[in-house]
Order: sequence, then structure tokens, then C-alpha cells
Amino acid sequence: MSVDGIPVRVSRDLSWRLAATAALLGILWSFTPPSAPRIRLCGFYWLTGRPCPLCGLTRAVFALAKGHWAEAFHFHALSPLGLAMLLSLFWEIPLRARLWNLGVVAFACYGVVRLLA
Ligand SMILES: [Zn+2]
Repeated sequence: MSVDGIPVRVSRDLSWRLAATAALLGILWSFTPPSAPRIRLCGFYWLTGRPCPLCGLTRAVFALAKGHWAEAFHFHALSPLGLAMLLSLFWEIPLRARLWNLGVVAFACYGVVRLLA
């Protein structure tokens, strides 16, 4: 069965993916976490006093969704990659596995650089 030449299942999948993406971006755009959290939830930071590879990523992704690129880079330089990885979870794209492999390596390298800086 099809509607306007698009199979119903594909159309339903596309609708769900678009809705999920819009909902996530809407949530990220609507809320603003505090720029300096009162309590750090990161166990690595708590134990070592140094930021882990993901510290600041939440604040950065919220800033990025609002178009505040400078603020996002300030919190976490890899936030565009992190947002792309997050959004890719809603889509069946052929390069998703490569994006995630690249992302994991990039975040690991970024974490090492942060520790040494
Ligand atoms: Zn952390």
C-alpha cells in the first residue's frame, strides 16, 4: 500500500524520525542549563579534578541548538560532532557507524588533549 507513491511504512518511519528530531531540537532549544553547574555530576571530574572527554558537552549541545556557536565551542569543541552523532540515532543513514567510530576516536583524543592542557 502507498500514499502519493511513498510506501506507508516508509512514510510512517519518516514521520516518526522527523518528529523525534524536531522534539529533540525543540527541547534543546527551549531549555538552558546553567553555564556553571552547582553540582558536577561527572565522576571523573569528581575523582581527578580534571574534565573528562564529555564534560561540557550537555551545555554545549543546548547552546548549539540555539545557534550560539561560540558558547558551544567554549563548553566543548566537539559539540557539533556530538549533536550530529545524537541526531544520527533517529536516522537510518549508511554512514552512521562510521560517524560513531570517528566520534568515539575524536572524543578520546579530545579527552587526552584536555588532560594534558
Ligand atoms: Zn565529565
